[in-house]
Amino acid sequence: MGKSSKDKRDAYYRLAKEQGYRARSAYKLLQLNETFNLLSFSTPARVLDLCAAPGSWSQVLSRTLPPGSKIVALDLQPMTAIAGVVTLQADITHPSTLPLIAQHLEGKADLVICDGAPDVTGLHDLDEYVQSSLLLSALNLAACALRPGGSFVAKVFRGRDVDVLFAQLRCVFERVTCAKPRSSRASSIEAFVVCERYAPPDGWSPGLEKPLDWGVPTHGGAVAREVAAFVACGDLEAADSDATSRLPEVNVDGRKRESIDPVQPPTAPPYKRAVEMRKALGSGVAAVGK
Ligand code: SAM
Repeated sequence: MGKSSKDKRDAYYRLAKEQGYRARSAYKLLQLNETFNLLSFSTPARVLDLCAAPGSWSQVLSRTLPPGSKIVALDLQPMTAIAGVVTLQADITHPSTLPLIAQHLEGKADLVICDGAPDVTGLHDLDEYVQSSLLLSALNLAACALRPGGSFVAKVFRGRDVDVLFAQLRCVFERVTCAKPRSSRASSIEAFVVCERYAPPDGWSPGLEKPLDWGVPTHGGAVAREVAAFVACGDLEAADSDATSRLPEVNVDGRKRESIDPVQPPTAPPYKRAVEMRKALGSGVAAVGK
């Protein structure tokens, strides 16, 4: 698919390049912020961005938070530097990541965000399972890193048992909402949990030795479930991310529209090796065919 046809197919992909964001995901955080006011701090804040590469959420943070804020971003993949952001290469499922975060955050976080996603297989049950394991790791890191009253935002796949997940989150946050930004394709099972006012229960102290898990047994032995409020975020008149749009004549800066290159190509995407292998295989087949 050429650059122009992708521009046409996805208004947020085009807008991201025009506004200098590394990925269209930036609009998901911006639209979540429109509804939940997550980034309005009157004094410098500490924010942790988990699974942050290529870095568009960190770019939103660095453009929005008050001067002097501390932003720590980490991902399995290396990230190209962003001014005002500490970028780390680490695995959120590994215990060594928590001390690394503490060392760079230099205090408790006001907000932890996680847009983490595994490489999806297309097998929905498996994808949901891996996604919820990733979310569980993010939640355990957030429980250790957040100050009481802080917020946590994370990507979820809305599967059959998502209500168990909401129940677990409600054990440690006063309000849990399931939010779907306009820029997240309606056809995708992706949504975001917005967890406000971190309130660890009395007598419980977070730690990776005894992490939270998804089993929330009630006294009757059944697993607790919770239906979270569902909120659509962002201007409903804004571009539909599932639609193919007519290309505008001019870019947002008023100049004649032309397709522009992505702001920051991925540094080491997981698909790179697969492409190299396919190319090598292709040339091998061509050589045999000669
Ligand atoms: N929010 C990012 C942005 O705006 O640029 C996009 C994040 S991308 C959708 C998902 C990221 O999750 C990938 O970069 C992937 O490397 C990362 N990821 C997946 N599993 C991870 C893990 N165990 N630890 C750290 N990062 C992980």
